[in-house]
Amino acid sequence: MATTNGTIENGQPDKKHPMLPRPVCNLEVQHCKIFINNDWHPSASGKTFPVYNPATGKKICKVEEADKEDVDKAVEAARAAFQKGSPWRSLDASGRGRLLHKLADLLERDRVILATLETMDTGKPFLHAFLIDLEGCIRTLRYYAGWADKVQGKTVPVDETFLCFTVHEPVGVCGAITPWNFPLLMLIWKMGPALCCGNTLVIKPAEQTPLTSLYVGSLIKEAGFPPGVVNIVPGYGPTAGAAISHHPDIDKIAFTGSTEVGQLIKDAASKSNLKRCTLELGGKNPCIVFADCDLELAVECAHQGVFFNQGQCCTAASRVFVEESIYPEFVRRSVEYAKRRMVGDPLDPKTEQGPQIDQEQFNKVLEFIQSGKEEGAKLECGGSAIGDRGFFIKPTVFSDVTDNMRIAKEEIFGPVQSIMKFKNMEEVIKRANGTQYGLTAAVFTSSLDRALNIASALQSGTVWINCYNALHAQTPFGGFKMSGNGRELGEYALAEYTEVKTVTIKLSQNKH
Ligand code: ADP
Repeated sequence: MATTNGTIENGQPDKKHPMLPRPVCNLEVQHCKIFINNDWHPSASGKTFPVYNPATGKKICKVEEADKEDVDKAVEAARAAFQKGSPWRSLDASGRGRLLHKLADLLERDRVILATLETMDTGKPFLHAFLIDLEGCIRTLRYYAGWADKVQGKTVPVDETFLCFTVHEPVGVCGAITPWNFPLLMLIWKMGPALCCGNTLVIKPAEQTPLTSLYVGSLIKEAGFPPGVVNIVPGYGPTAGAAISHHPDIDKIAFTGSTEVGQLIKDAASKSNLKRCTLELGGKNPCIVFADCDLELAVECAHQGVFFNQGQCCTAASRVFVEESIYPEFVRRSVEYAKRRMVGDPLDPKTEQGPQIDQEQFNKVLEFIQSGKEEGAKLECGGSAIGDRGFFIKPTVFSDVTDNMRIAKEEIFGPVQSIMKFKNMEEVIKRANGTQYGLTAAVFTSSLDRALNIASALQSGTVWINCYNALHAQTPFGGFKMSGNGRELGEYALAEYTEVKTVTIKLSQNKH
C-alpha cells in the first residue's frame, strides 16, 4: 500500500481562475488494493484490472480485482463490526456524527487531490469535480453528521393498557454498488446516511472508476472509524457486484446505475434473502419550455441540463419540449451555446466538456447520433467524434425530433440534445409522461399557476421549476416508475437505512 505523499501542490491557485486551485497532476501513488478491516489486501485470486484515463487512453494504474471470495471476507468484517458490543455499535450516536464531520474535514483537506483523481479517472472537467462533486460530498457528509443523534422513534398511543414505542435501528450490513459518472458523490450519498444510522458497509465502485472510492478508504481509517465499518471491494459487476447482490448475509443494497442492472439486482436480492433495495436508475427526463418563460435562462439551463458531465447523467435533460411560437429562436440559441462549449483536456480549467468514459459508451453515443440522422431528425451541429485520442464527441443538437425516434425514447448518456415542439399543456404532459422512466423533469414558465399544475401532473421524483440539476443534501432524490425504488438524500434516506422496531409494554391494571 502506498500513501499520497506531501509533494502535492495543494491549494495553489491557477492564474486564469484565481479562485480555483491547480489540479494535482503529479500523483504517483494511489491505493490500489482491496480495503477490508481498515487494511489493504491483495485479491484472493491474485488478479488485477487496469484503470484508464479516458482523456488520453493511457493506463493510470492496476487495481486488485475483488471477486466472491473477497466479498465474503468484506461481509464477514462488516458483520463483525456490526455485532452488539463492537466498538462501532457501542459508540454514541453523537460519536458517529463526530466521525462523519471528521471525514468531511479530511475530504476538505484533500479536496484538490480527490478532484484531480476524479478528473483523471472519469474525464470530467476538473472545474466541475472540484466545485460540484467535492462540494456535494462535503455538504452531504456534514448534513448526515448532523442527523446522527436525531434519528428517533415515537411513542404510539394504543387502545387498552399498553405503552408502545418505536426504535429506529440500523438495518445491518449494507452493500453499495456505485456507477462511473459520479463515483465519489454516489458513494457519499450512500455512505452518509448508512453510517449516520449505525450500519456497516461493503462498497463496490464501478470498474472504470475505483480510484476516489479507494482513496476514501484511507480517509475512513484516518478519521478513526473502527475496522470493518467500511470495506471497499473494487471489481467487475457480474462478479464482485453480483456477489454482493446475491449475498445471504447482506441486509440491504443501495445501487445507482442502469435500469437493466437494477432489475438484476432486485431479482438477486429477492432470490437470496429479500435484502432491502434502493435503486437509482435511468431517466429520459423532459425539460418543458413555455413561450412565457425567461428564454435566455431556459436555453442555458436546458443546455447545461443535457451537456453537464458529458451528458452522462441520469438527470440529463434529454428531451426538450419547446412551445411552438418560440421553437425556432430556442433552437437557434441552443445551437450557439453548443458551438461555444469548450471541449478538451479535463485538467484545463477552461474546459467544460471532457471525453466519454470509455470506448463502449463512445460507440454507443455515436450510434445514437447515427440513428437520429437516419430517422429524420435535423442535425443542427456536432454529430461526430473529435480527434483520434480519447473519447471526445462534439456537442450535438438535433431539432425536429419526434417522440418515436430512438434519441427521444432511449437513454443516450452522451452530449446529444433533442429538441421537440409542442402546442399545448395537455399534449406536453401526456408526451412528457409517455416513458418508462420518471426520474426528473423541469418546467420553464413565468406563470406560477402553470408551473404548479404541471408539477403535479408530471410522473417524476423531482420537478425543477425555472432551474435544472438543483440537487441538495436536504432534499430527497429518486425515481417514479422504472427510474428506481426508494429515495437518497434528505431525511427520507434515513428510512432506507433503518428498521423500525415496535416495543409494546403491558401495564398493570392497578387503579389508584
Ligand atoms: P453502465 O451501463 O452505465 O456502465 P451499470 O449499471 O452497468 O452502468 O453499472 C453500474 C454499477 O453496477 C457498476 O458498479 C457495475 O460494475 C455494476 N454492475 C454491473 N453489472 C452488475 C451485476 N450483474 N450485478 C451487480 N452489479 C453490477
